[in-house]
Amino acid sequence: MFSKTIRAFSTSSTSLKNIKIGLIPGDGIGREVIPAGRAVLENLPSKLGLKFDFVDLDAGFELFQKTGTALPDETVKVLKEECDGALFGAVSSPSVKVEGYSSPIVALRKKLGLYANVRPVKSVEGIGRPVDMVIVRENTEDLYIKEERTYKAADGTRVAEAIKRITETATTRIAKMAYDIALKRQAIREASSATGLHTSPSVTVTHKSNVLSQSDGLFREICRSVYDANLGLYDSIAYREQIVDSMVYRMFREPEIFDVVVAPNLYGDILSDGAAALVGSLGVVPSANVGENFAIGEPCHGSAPDIEGKGISNPIATIRSTALMLEFMGHTDAAATIYEAVDANLAEDSIKTPDLGGNSTTQQVVDDIIRRF
Ligand code: ATP
Repeated sequence: MFSKTIRAFSTSSTSLKNIKIGLIPGDGIGREVIPAGRAVLENLPSKLGLKFDFVDLDAGFELFQKTGTALPDETVKVLKEECDGALFGAVSSPSVKVEGYSSPIVALRKKLGLYANVRPVKSVEGIGRPVDMVIVRENTEDLYIKEERTYKAADGTRVAEAIKRITETATTRIAKMAYDIALKRQAIREASSATGLHTSPSVTVTHKSNVLSQSDGLFREICRSVYDANLGLYDSIAYREQIVDSMVYRMFREPEIFDVVVAPNLYGDILSDGAAALVGSLGVVPSANVGENFAIGEPCHGSAPDIEGKGISNPIATIRSTALMLEFMGHTDAAATIYEAVDANLAEDSIKTPDLGGNSTTQQVVDDIIRRF
């Protein structure tokens, strides 16, 4: 049985209800991969009983350069009032501070209460080390509250400070989500009788409480107490802790041992990009921004200006993010159909984009995945 967070999304995947998805391509290759997510949804087998409508929405750095707004109010309004879920492509990050600009996806996470960033990292058979882990990153606090200041010390030199905030409330809900995801993954493994890397669920709590005894100390304490307080529900999950620096070491030495990893915002950000390096290309790593009743699928990669316009962006991160969004909406059969088709594409050498050593186009990969439904 899953807790409230997962159940809150549950609807029957066989109902014929229309689902409205907001599409926010953003910048760069976001505009090339979001159509892949749309095509996949439009071509899902009708026996799954899902029908999708789409609404195109604006956001991004280029929009900011044109209009002075990175995230129009209209985008937020339509997402809140009309959409059941959304897909976000990518946003360019200016390398220097641009006055008045802040990331639209960070703002969206706040405005829609999407407190978790969930990043599954799964190896492609035959490429690199076997990996099958999910990183659950807290999305609302830690150093990302951006309470920073620069001031002059007594000797006239500059000092910069940033506040790292960890709260009991945010840690409790992210810990619950991590345990619930661990149970859900185990249930899926058992239902599919798949022989994967993990035979039982585990959650690894990542922290640096040996140095940051108050802030990371609280994160660690709350994760443990949520587990202890719900032992009846969570007793099949192995509870583990790992200091973040040794976590990085172990993640690269023996990635196969990790099932679900939960981390405060900054460590989660770094760990998930590091984990992406284990599986060959950023182009295959999905994520979802998840709250109590809404999920936005978002590929982990950025706007990739170096390959923009060439038609060779790998669409798989977006296609997997589309499945992940459906999963959090409760449409697990549809999600499984997409995951299986992607895995089948990856298991063969023939149709792959150049980042995976192939010479196919984005469209050819999309077509190959869809034909496998
Ligand atoms: P940004 O400033 O938006 O973060 P970036 O280029 O610094 O852009 P990414 O977009 O994440 O960061 O790209 C990092 C590298 O990975 C680039 O070489 C890019 O071409 C490659 N890459 C990212 N996404 C994909 C993709 N979907 N398909 C193929 N290669 C990709």
